[in-house]
Amino acid sequence: MRIVMFGAPGVGKGTQAKILADKLNVPHISTGDILRSAIKNQTVLGLKAKEIVESGYLVPDDLMADLIKEVLSGKECEKGFILDGYPRTLDQAKLLDEIFQSLKTDEEYYLAITVDDELIIQRLSNRLACKVCGTIFTLSEVEGKTTCPKCGAAESLYKRKDDEEDVIRNRLNVFHAQTEPVLDYYKSKGKLTFVNGDQPVNMVAEELVGKIK
Ligand code: AMP
Repeated sequence: MRIVMFGAPGVGKGTQAKILADKLNVPHISTGDILRSAIKNQTVLGLKAKEIVESGYLVPDDLMADLIKEVLSGKECEKGFILDGYPRTLDQAKLLDEIFQSLKTDEEYYLAITVDDELIIQRLSNRLACKVCGTIFTLSEVEGKTTCPKCGAAESLYKRKDDEEDVIRNRLNVFHAQTEPVLDYYKSKGKLTFVNGDQPVNMVAEELVGKIK
């Protein structure tokens, strides 16, 4: 089973993708996480992507193409996956169609989570991440804490550079300009299902699961 998740930055796509991956026992493939890890480890890809990711623009399609082909053809993805963060442009969507034709798994779902832009800005400005385990917390969850509640790392909580307000606004503009046409592309093929992301996390998860037969 392959599931492709869509949503503007901050709609809770990553959180929901993790929940679905646990429930369905398939890997969660987040291109954003892969890029952040490449940046942290200063790999060739990371060095090329650093400035682009930190300013909220999209990494060029050719770099993403190599990455996605390698990941999806890996053994880990053999029985399916939840794809979070790809495709984000029409060219990426067309490449993904080609990749999917060559894969063995056949069931596929395209799920989009929607939330109003102003609510997204509020949400993202109010979150911190752990630089060791990558878990994301709301400010109220970690108020007064200096260690990560998930992995226990000391002094590890920080605001991701791409969660600063001007960068968030840029990421939203990029989403509307470049990724919305991708949603239209799947919509016109009758493949896309929408879920309202402005609900408690467990209710969004329930709705998403309900869309998968
Ligand atoms: P995310 O965590 O999915 O919001 O991704 C964080 C950042 O990584 C994005 O703002 C982009 O700079 C970059 N990125 C992730 N996935 C892609 C993609 N499919 N194409 C281009 N850039 C991407």
